[in-house]
Parts: sequence; C-alpha cells; structure tokens
Amino acid sequence: MLFCGPSGSGKTTIVHHLMQQFPMMRFSVSATTREKRPNEVHGKDYYFLSVDEFKEKIQNDEFLEWEEVYKDRFYGTLQKEVERILNDGYVAIFDVDVEGGLHIRKQFGRQLLDVFVMPPSVDDLHKRLVARATESEDSLFKRLDKAEKEMNYAFRFNHVIVNAVLEDAKLDAVKIVKEFLEDVVPEPDEES
Ligand code: 5GP
Repeated sequence: MLFCGPSGSGKTTIVHHLMQQFPMMRFSVSATTREKRPNEVHGKDYYFLSVDEFKEKIQNDEFLEWEEVYKDRFYGTLQKEVERILNDGYVAIFDVDVEGGLHIRKQFGRQLLDVFVMPPSVDDLHKRLVARATESEDSLFKRLDKAEKEMNYAFRFNHVIVNAVLEDAKLDAVKIVKEFLEDVVPEPDEES
C-alpha cells in the first residue's frame, strides 16, 4: 500500500492509524540522511544514516527507490526492508514522496493500492507545518515549495483523500483499504 502526499498533509498520521486497524500491515521503514526529530526512533520511524552511508547503499544497489527529496536530504526504500515484510507474510505500507511513490508503483503494478493524501489548500498546509514546529524557516519554505508541485500529481493516483478533517480522512482511508483487501483476498463464501 502506497501513501503519498505533501509533507504536512497528514499521511503519516493516517498510515499509523491504518496500522492500528489492520494488524497484517507493516510499515516499510525508509532510510534517510535528515536529522532525527526528538520523538523519532531509529529503526521504527527511519533508519537514520550519514550521507556517506546512504551513498554507499546507492552504490551497492540496496534501494528499491531513492530520492534526494530536499537538497542533501536523501530518502530511500531499502530492498531488504520490503523483502523482510513480504517474506514474513505481511502487507507493506509505504509513506514516500510522490516521485518515490511513482517508482514503487511501477515495480508493483496493480498489486499495489495507491493513495494520495491531499491537504485542503497550501495555506492550510502552511499552518499545519508551523503548528507542528519540526522545521526551520528554510526547511518550511522548501517543504511548501515542493508541496505545491506535488499537489499537481494527485490526478496520477487511483485514490485521493482530502484531509480537511483528520477523523474523516482516517475513515476514508480505512474504507479504501478494506475494499482493496476484500478484492485481493475475497471473504469466504458463507454458503460453501
Ligand atoms: P519527513 O522528513 O517529513 O519525514 O519526510 C519528507 C518526505 O520524504 C515525505 O514526503 C516522505 O513521505 C518522504 N519519504 C520518506 N521516506 C521516503 C522514501 O523511502 N523514499 C522517498 N522517495 N521519499 C520518502
């Protein structure tokens, strides 16, 4: 399952909610070179790497996809991470930027549920990022700039959730995931 959308759109919150609702889902922990936020845990939220470590993994072809999402800030999905989740029989859930998401979709095709989480407006996104207080002014500016571009890609996704009211967005996400899972693994026929 793929959840894309601008930074601050609420996609990570929605993804965490889905993992509570669907025990067969496992978060695909990405690698990144950005600094760890105080509430984040290495190996749970991200694998925090130095730029050299990240580049070595690029050289060794260890990524399913990677992007320099912001200047000098690399993010990537590790092949091993995905293999581990799938080999253990779980459903992988990806929270990546739009470019990375489109790469992942190319590799998994129709097996993958793709969802774009859209903030109601750029203005709203600005307010959320300010309220979250995780970004410097420079980083905030870069995130907003990228968000405006990313919002133009929503039409390339099969599902779009507008996150105006978080509780509604969570319900929408649960409904979309349920429908997808029912299609992939049909409910047993009661009569047979
Ligand atoms: P943040 O710094 O807010 O955690 O993430 C910034 C952006 O990078 C978000 O849009 C997030 O979804 C994206 N991101 C996180 N992990 C990956 C990844 O493995 N690959 C790509 N391409 N983007 C990622």
